[in-house]
Amino acid sequence: MNNNGVNSIEIKKINRQTIYKFLYRHEPISIQEIAYTLNMSLPTVTQNIKELYERGLVIKTGLFESTGGRKAKAISYNSTARYAIGLDVTRNHIGAVLIDLSGKVIKNERRQFPFINSKEYFKGVGNYVQAFIEDYNINTKDILGVGIALPAIIAPDRETVSYATVIDFKGGKVSAFSEYIPYPCVFSNDANAAGFAEMWGDETFENVVYLSLNNSVGGSIIIKKNIYEGYNNRSGEFGHMTIVPNGRACYCGKKGCVDAYCSAKLLSDSTNGNIAEFFRLLSIGNKEQKLIWEEYVSHLVIAVNNLRMLFDCNVILGGYAGAYMDDYIGEIRELASKYNTFEVDGSYLRVCKYKLETTAVGAALILVEDFIKNI
Ligand SMILES: [Zn+2]
Repeated sequence: MNNNGVNSIEIKKINRQTIYKFLYRHEPISIQEIAYTLNMSLPTVTQNIKELYERGLVIKTGLFESTGGRKAKAISYNSTARYAIGLDVTRNHIGAVLIDLSGKVIKNERRQFPFINSKEYFKGVGNYVQAFIEDYNINTKDILGVGIALPAIIAPDRETVSYATVIDFKGGKVSAFSEYIPYPCVFSNDANAAGFAEMWGDETFENVVYLSLNNSVGGSIIIKKNIYEGYNNRSGEFGHMTIVPNGRACYCGKKGCVDAYCSAKLLSDSTNGNIAEFFRLLSIGNKEQKLIWEEYVSHLVIAVNNLRMLFDCNVILGGYAGAYMDDYIGEIRELASKYNTFEVDGSYLRVCKYKLETTAVGAALILVEDFIKNI
């Protein structure tokens, strides 16, 4: 075997990926500037751009003045070369998104669709996915696949559920879904997917803790842009940190877990499950909601401060409840900082930027990331 041959193929692949990743993160730019910025030779860049262009992965977006006064072609990655579908499977609903390579949401939908571990259910999901993209004239070969986020612990193969209590799917396989879906499917944990979406495209910070305040509380830990999975893929299970010894019963069977105090349900139970209505009533100073909110926040800030003490990085409030907290972030920061040994301000605490279907977007972005890695 000729080692030099293998090496040159590897180098070629690395160059192609470097150029594509660079284009993915930047505004349209000339071949000359790509070569200059990446410290590559002009022929190398030209050859790679030609190949990527022939594959439809980059586009020429027009002419602009280059430094020599000569008009140069601007090169950009083609955000509509591929698409990905994301599903957020919950106990009672399915949220779905269709995104392009940039992560832009082309379509999103959420509907009642109770999870049942049965062939009828998985077949129903398959039909739903087909109908969901029907209106869009997308070539099926341009669909990277379907990312399926579950309220469950996922094994490292991304195809098996190793633990689940919110839905009855322990030991479940991705093949249960993919039997009825004609695209590659991968599982992800719901909170990890949401955290991943929040970090996507953000160059300003590398480490973040995402606290997912849905009807069950979870989260994810992202270190250097990668999800920290833990040894059993159980990292970020913030919902089951004990904050009140012998406290309220948690659905997991233990007592005093964060989930029993910070689930979005505690808020929306007062408004027939409607979280938007809860925050509307809170905003107009309705007494019942105000009392519920104060009690809720008093526990939330303990969880938040614990996360700050543990990770010393930004903490994002997400999930159904987190998405509504923009107007209250000042108050929450102030209360959280009262527990903080080192800091007087709580500016490390943020509200999520994606307000809709974050989890489904993140599940789909995992396929986009795979695609970029293997370009
Ligand atoms: Zn628990």
